Amino acid sequence: MKLGILGGGQLARMLAMAAHPLGIETVFVDPSPHAPARAVGAALTAAYDDRAALLAMAERVDVATYEFENVPDAAARALAGAVLLLPPPEALRVSQDRLVEKEALASLGVPTPPFRAVDDRAALRAAVDTLGVPCVLKTRRFGYDGKGQSVLRAGDDAALDRAWALVGAGRVPCILERFVPFERELSQLVVRDAAGDVRFYPLVQSFHDRGILRETLAPASDVSPALAAHARDHAARLASHLGYVGTLALELFDVGGTLLANEFAPRVHNSGHWTIEGAETSQFENHVRAVCGLPLGATGALGRAVSFNLLGDVPPSAALLAVPGAHLHLYGKSPAPWRKLGHLTLVERAGDTDFDARRAALRALVDAASDLPDP
Ligand code: AMP
Repeated sequence: MKLGILGGGQLARMLAMAAHPLGIETVFVDPSPHAPARAVGAALTAAYDDRAALLAMAERVDVATYEFENVPDAAARALAGAVLLLPPPEALRVSQDRLVEKEALASLGVPTPPFRAVDDRAALRAAVDTLGVPCVLKTRRFGYDGKGQSVLRAGDDAALDRAWALVGAGRVPCILERFVPFERELSQLVVRDAAGDVRFYPLVQSFHDRGILRETLAPASDVSPALAAHARDHAARLASHLGYVGTLALELFDVGGTLLANEFAPRVHNSGHWTIEGAETSQFENHVRAVCGLPLGATGALGRAVSFNLLGDVPPSAALLAVPGAHLHLYGKSPAPWRKLGHLTLVERAGDTDFDARRAALRALVDAASDLPDP
């Protein structure tokens, strides 16, 4: 069996590494000659909208998937016309536009922060007057990791002008959301196969710095059975509505025990990297299994786990690996401010007494290496 992957970043690389022991070969398309997945799969170096390259990949594989959600519409259509493309292109359509995404979630009964569409400056004034401040103005499309966003703390015209200019001053459609005073950010990973079998990973807590994920704790602490059930129910509704096949991440705000959905990613996700060592089956392997029509694997956690993103620069491997139980993943990328260069996972094993101390030691090493300027 052969799996095509659109995109050759670290997610494609980890998908290919999970596919390999299952006897599944991977072929990917990426415009960069330095794409991290080159180390583990066959590469077609081409732009994502290079129709000939997409069709060449389609010809070589049994099924295709993608590792990022901003797949150009034309590329998704070209691929889907030539080979089975999973998750289904509908998941791309919904997740690419924050307004369509929030409307879809709301229609499924999944609560979100209150929001309004904002297409011009007058609509921004009306939306701020309705939702109140603080609120956050976001571009509807192509935003990620906090990019294309501006938080409004005051509702005067000067503040609106500033936010309006920051997100592109009417050149692109936007959405205004109430800025919710969440206690923590949680992420629910779900995997669904073509027959509708659904498995949930435990709810995890995400720690962001200036919009970028720094650390993930799995499972999240103090999760009541009711909270866990809500998170699962929200993710299951979304996955079944989309006819989803593969791994999906639903990002949630915990506001006083109520879960509000922020967004979802129709792919394997950074908040699930801990599953490689910390769960019975990794998110990558389960994504591969789902899209290749194989039975899903168990999703239980083996113990507590924590993952750190290695951003901007990487601490010396010897220092990291000297911490018992630390697992290092380097993506083969050159250092640059805020670039995700790798991650590190620590898994708690039976009888562990110093998990928290080792977590703190690793965090100190990671923080010392990454001096992160304001993005
Ligand atoms: P996003 O690109 O939508 O994932 O946003 C990046 C980060 O900004 C999130 O992880 C939150 O920390 C924060 N954020 C986004 N939207 C809101 C909101 N409506 N209320 C509070 N914080 C938000």
